Amino acid sequence: MVENKKKLLGNNLAQLKEIALSLGLPAFTGKQLADWLYKKKVTSIDQMTNLSKAAREKLSQEYIVGIDKAIDIQASSDGTKKYLFPCHTGSAIEAVMIPDADRATICVSSQAGCKMGCKFCMTGRQGFKGNLETAEIISQFISIDESDSLTNAVFMGMGEPLDNIDNVLAAIEILTADWGFAWSPKRITLSSIGVLPALKRFLDETKVHLAISLHDPFPQERLSLMPMQKAFPIEEVIKLIKKYDFTGQRRVSFEYTMFNRVNDTKQHADALVRMLRGLECRINLIRFHAIPDSELSPSPMLIIEQFRDRINSSGITATIRASRGEDILAACGMLSGKQKQQLQ
Ligand code: SF4
Repeated sequence: MVENKKKLLGNNLAQLKEIALSLGLPAFTGKQLADWLYKKKVTSIDQMTNLSKAAREKLSQEYIVGIDKAIDIQASSDGTKKYLFPCHTGSAIEAVMIPDADRATICVSSQAGCKMGCKFCMTGRQGFKGNLETAEIISQFISIDESDSLTNAVFMGMGEPLDNIDNVLAAIEILTADWGFAWSPKRITLSSIGVLPALKRFLDETKVHLAISLHDPFPQERLSLMPMQKAFPIEEVIKLIKKYDFTGQRRVSFEYTMFNRVNDTKQHADALVRMLRGLECRINLIRFHAIPDSELSPSPMLIIEQFRDRINSSGITATIRASRGEDILAACGMLSGKQKQQLQ
């Protein structure tokens, strides 16, 4: 039965060598497996044609490749595409492909649902269903139609990546290792609310860019938007980040979703600047997308522009992020894992 078989996908080179040895195959079969999985991106063991028929049969008795095919695809009028994938938790997860002039970026999910409970996020609303396996994270990169033309990846889909740190770090290893996708870490950005101490591990063990979901510089206000402020205070998160070097290749940015009359005043802009002073960083201002049954509403564009200009005049760069895929509920905070959920 396929269901009882283990996945080859998601294993690193050392693990693939162990699998080969455990089946009585030579260790170099592990390298061949990595090639087939992560460079040639095959979907079945039968396609691994440089392995002997006997070797393929042995592998097939215990293993499958482990790619999850999309169960639904929606295309936005702006070219953004949202893919729905099955997940071992029984609920579905989403990946979004965002095309740009010279880029194709995949926004990947790291968990089914999320524990963090941010008030402005549809994923947070649905609660936590489980961590994605490393294979389920990598499968999103391989299964989408644009797999071969991807230029960038952002861990900004469903879930808090640092709450699934082991599997996310394993996925980053596969994406950046020579035997894997061989991507430069500069092509990848991980977004987090700042889960401590997993954040330290991420900063120590990878060179991937970091985006912190900040959203409010005042701790009490942030707490009302993001309950995890209590466990992981933004002040502590910034203190940790300031210990690392972001003046070279690695970048840190801060996500700031703008809520009308909640976090969009001059006082907020000034406090944000004070909080981030001394750090080489960028602030991404994000227009809020209405979600059902929420008291939060988007700040008017004029207010967002004034907020940006005030920050820019302080010497920190702030930009307004273009919204993509709103019509297919693929924009920031809109991923729910439910097909065609209707807004009120
Ligand atoms: Fe989780 Fe991110 Fe949504 Fe917060 S914004 S609930 S961390 S998915």
